[in-house]
Amino acid sequence: MSLKRCSPEVIIGPIKMGSDNPIVIQSMTNTDTSDVKASVAQALELAQAGAQVIRMTVNDKAAAKAVPEIIHQVRAALETEVAFVGDFHFNGNKLLKAVPECAKALDKYRINPGNADDTNFKEMVEIAVQNQKTVRIGVNGGSLDQKVLDDLMELNAQSPTPLSATDIFIKAMVKSALNSAKLAETYGLKKNQIVVSVKISEVNQVVAAYEAVAGQSDYCLHLGLTEAGSGLQGVVQSSIALGILLKQNIGDTIRVSLTPNKNVPRSEEVEVCKHILQSLDLTRYRPKVVSCPGCGRTTSTFFQDLALRVNNLIDQELEVWKKKFPGVENLNIAVMGCVVNGPGESKNADIAISLPGKMEKAQAPVYIDGKLSVWLKGEDIENQFIQILKTYIKDKFT
Ligand code: SF4
Repeated sequence: MSLKRCSPEVIIGPIKMGSDNPIVIQSMTNTDTSDVKASVAQALELAQAGAQVIRMTVNDKAAAKAVPEIIHQVRAALETEVAFVGDFHFNGNKLLKAVPECAKALDKYRINPGNADDTNFKEMVEIAVQNQKTVRIGVNGGSLDQKVLDDLMELNAQSPTPLSATDIFIKAMVKSALNSAKLAETYGLKKNQIVVSVKISEVNQVVAAYEAVAGQSDYCLHLGLTEAGSGLQGVVQSSIALGILLKQNIGDTIRVSLTPNKNVPRSEEVEVCKHILQSLDLTRYRPKVVSCPGCGRTTSTFFQDLALRVNNLIDQELEVWKKKFPGVENLNIAVMGCVVNGPGESKNADIAISLPGKMEKAQAPVYIDGKLSVWLKGEDIENQFIQILKTYIKDKFT
């Protein structure tokens, strides 16, 4: 499902975004870009998890020279289309001029106006125009153009009703992004070759900044909470910020920026993006499993084990199911712990089971398409339900 947004359609290599295209998921490698083998492996991991746009740091000549080979190898190994973005800062113009194959191979250049002087900015945009590439004007709270901030602070100090320092900071983020985007247009970029982002590491501020950009322009928007942090903190903060914005039809592409954890794959960022879009019913990636949190009414772990098994089955079989059973990602399954909410949730799902709670008879009703289908009994309820689920998928989606 996609939402009609007001941004123009932007084409980034093989990927379309903006306008009424579905929201695009992107991520970024954290390998040394000059290490082709490691960068290809990580880009493939991100793409196979569902990233449609992959960004790489291009910070020196060795990285710039590696870019075309990385793109070639990743594209050769993938069945799906993916676009590549180079992340440029202080020396982007020099690198793009020195390694024109890099400028040609990339689909989009990310330029941070806070880290690019006037000449660097102008020359990078001109190279994008010559090569017909898209540019993201990516303003970041940690590297905001100090002059824009200072000027606004000075004006604010003279105002009879001065705004807070936070409000001025947000205004400066928005001004830096929109002024830079307009400047890029004067250098020859078309509006549909520009993507804008205003990333900040604080949820309320990032929401306010994107709301202001969306209210003042119709550029295609890349959403992200920068430096969201590790683990649950990063996931929750990103989900709240992106959820609030997406719910207002703000945003065309999203990235979740999680601090790396050596025990967690980089593609966790992509998985979180997929969960955010699926939670808002913007795109379906996998069947939805509704399962209750459990409480004193069900002291056994039976329903927990079954919910886990159903989720594991989906993870293992999803790619095969998607090919054999088109539309399977739209399936709704419920695994409930007792009769309190079990029958109600079961009736809302395509296929559901309500397991016996404490003091309930050792039997479990299975609901199919909202109607009671069968009571499962005995020691083998889990296997029986998995079999019914597999048969249901085969019958419904073949
Ligand atoms: S469905 Fe039953 S077991 Fe699950 S949380 Fe609700 S009352 Fe507790």
